[in-house]
Amino acid sequence: METNSTISGWKDKILFTPGPLITSRTVKQAMLRDLGSRDYSFIELVKDIRNRLLEIGQVHKGDYEAIIMQGSGTYGLEAVVSSTVPPGGKLLVIVNGAYGRRIALIAEVLKINVTTLVYPESRTPDLAEIESTLAADDSITNVAVIHCETTTGIINPIKEIGAIVKQFGKSYFVDAMSSFGAVPFSLSECGIDFMVSSANKCIEGVPGFAIILAKQESLLATEGYARSLSLNLLAQWQGLDANGQFRFTPPTHALLAFHQALLELRDEGGVEGRGRRYEANYETLVAGTRALGLREYLQPEDQGYVITSFHYPSHPNFDFEAFYRRLNDKQQVIYPGKVSEVACFRIGSIGRIFPADVSTLLAAMREAFEEMGVTLP
Ligand SMILES: *Cc1c(COP(=O)(O)O)cnc(C)c1O
Repeated sequence: METNSTISGWKDKILFTPGPLITSRTVKQAMLRDLGSRDYSFIELVKDIRNRLLEIGQVHKGDYEAIIMQGSGTYGLEAVVSSTVPPGGKLLVIVNGAYGRRIALIAEVLKINVTTLVYPESRTPDLAEIESTLAADDSITNVAVIHCETTTGIINPIKEIGAIVKQFGKSYFVDAMSSFGAVPFSLSECGIDFMVSSANKCIEGVPGFAIILAKQESLLATEGYARSLSLNLLAQWQGLDANGQFRFTPPTHALLAFHQALLELRDEGGVEGRGRRYEANYETLVAGTRALGLREYLQPEDQGYVITSFHYPSHPNFDFEAFYRRLNDKQQVIYPGKVSEVACFRIGSIGRIFPADVSTLLAAMREAFEEMGVTLP
């Protein structure tokens, strides 16, 4: 069994986080080059990356376009919000976690008219209410939702929401940051006009840029909408499509790493193959945490295999900071919770980690609980 320590080749702590994540040694090694941004081999590399991204989204060039935007994932979200809501338009954000709230905040900062449908973080959105909201307010031009709400790990029904959004002829924006590359879906089947992900989540590249897949027709219709120079989505695409070049300094090393990461994704069996490994990580995790006496925050039917939220143990000796530090000393990095209503911590199943790594984490958790005198039912 291949484990992280053999594949990574570095003695770093193991990251069970929502990103940045553990990457393979070969992905890191791909960065040991200095390529000029106008070098023909770099331009070819970018072209190949963009084609592979369309393949992952199960769409074809011309129908859809792949755009790379410098910055972290949030820069990609801000590029879409600032570039695709028409002047005087109105964005409806469907919120059931912190990342949904972030999209609404981006719109507020940009002084874009925004309205929200807010749901408990433990629940998927109410489809009938989305439909009645769109029926009641025809000033809404764009609708946004998160696919895997990394706040909890819940998977939102993007296809069903997309069918409603398209029924009303609105522009549909999906933040698939933490699912793209590991949870299969077709952008066209979901009716998606704009989707954002990032280099350093399920595709297992290093941080440095966001990925935007855009329906070409919808993208071309946004001429004149941009409220930012550097985050202008249409201009970024026009630059990339005309001569393969970025308008401003590209993250060359991160793109070299990403290209290698895409080859490794293909070798693993594509999105399905990667999804199977993450699912095996998740199954190992919850079997182990249930045996430890921990409780998951979400109902199993809403829970994806990307990241899992756990209630704090109710034992009086439990203290998250102390638990976190003990795990860190054992080379295991988990993540604090983001759920606003209850005390939780999170464990990710994504990145270059394997079920054997999850078993190592579980053993470390058991030790940490013993050291702290935390006994669970
Ligand atoms: C990670 C994440 C983001 C933010 O990405 P950054 O790279 O930290 O800017 C946004 N949305 C979702 C759903 C995420 O998981």
